[in-house]
Amino acid sequence: MYPTLFHNDLEPFIIAGPCSVESREQLQQIAAELSTVQQVGMIRCGIWKPRTRPGGFEGLGETALAWIDDLRQQYPTLRFCCEVAQPEHVERCLQHHIDAVWIGARTSGNPFSVGELAEALQGTSLGVMVKNPIAADVNLWQGAIERIMSAGIADVAAIHRGFYLYRDSSPYRNKPLWEVALELQRRMPQLPLFCDPSHMGGDRRYLEPLMTTADDLGYNGYMIEVHPHPEQALTDSGQQVDVEGLKQLLQKLDEHRHTGTSNTRLNTLRQQIDAIDERLIRAMGDRMAISRKIAQLKKTEHMDAYQPQRWRELLHQRLTTAQEAGLDAHFVRVLYEAIHTESIRTQEEILGDFNIEN
Ligand code: PEP
Ligand code: MN
Repeated sequence: MYPTLFHNDLEPFIIAGPCSVESREQLQQIAAELSTVQQVGMIRCGIWKPRTRPGGFEGLGETALAWIDDLRQQYPTLRFCCEVAQPEHVERCLQHHIDAVWIGARTSGNPFSVGELAEALQGTSLGVMVKNPIAADVNLWQGAIERIMSAGIADVAAIHRGFYLYRDSSPYRNKPLWEVALELQRRMPQLPLFCDPSHMGGDRRYLEPLMTTADDLGYNGYMIEVHPHPEQALTDSGQQVDVEGLKQLLQKLDEHRHTGTSNTRLNTLRQQIDAIDERLIRAMGDRMAISRKIAQLKKTEHMDAYQPQRWRELLHQRLTTAQEAGLDAHFVRVLYEAIHTESIRTQEEILGDFNIEN
């Protein structure tokens, strides 16, 4: 059930590496350093860099892919991933035995581009991670993931890297809007969800607080930018850490995870419960509004509020769904009896008939 490529025995799954490959030496150094960090399950390295404005460092392209291919012989257990934005990138990655790719935030919001990538990925064993689009549109993100899944890709994961908001008052480069990622997780519960605190925070100082929040929310892993000399990095210098920095972060995360029932963890989970309850109550209000419309129709048709056949069918369907959702049948029966009784009571008020038993 859990994809194997994005999972090792060490939860959370850590993907670490430089924003961009800048030279063969830099790549070799970071691979050597990261190979000593047990938790790192995959190395990230930018090969083709999508720059917001022209003129910056745009990556070394295929030259750097060939270096990765060489490194694989030196470190046979290391896995590598890079960003792809065009079908040609996918082809190059396949030629150079890359293990996984990710679709960046500037690409995942474009259904045409994602469609072309899905076509190029069809029939390959590449793992694919889909970053959230720049816009906080959960449907667009889900749609990109679905396009990749329907290309038959077995190992798919989502990466939450935050959303760009104009003149946002928060200190982050991209606002987390955790609820968007949690909604994706609710819709696709089997999909591994990773957090990219580097692009979210835009500053290495924010990595730790973002990771501990993500951990409280149950994220499965992290993609973190790590550079041998972050201050000299050609891209995203302020948000990268060196390997020592990464080790410290992982240590802090581990401590946080072991404080287990800490108040923050409890509060974060309670906030999730509150958000779900809010949706439940509002959905119940919507359901009751429809029930009132049905009452108007029943009135015109001279029908009773209580329709035993419909009630039996409805309950049967709900119990089937309950089983799929792993819910106790007795609990769902009691819940639906209460909902149905209230619905019939409301309809009877409209029908003006208070004598029908239900
Ligand atoms: C990246 O991971 O290097 C990158 C460009 O990220 P994003 O698409 O999240 O901006
Ligand atoms: Mn970057």
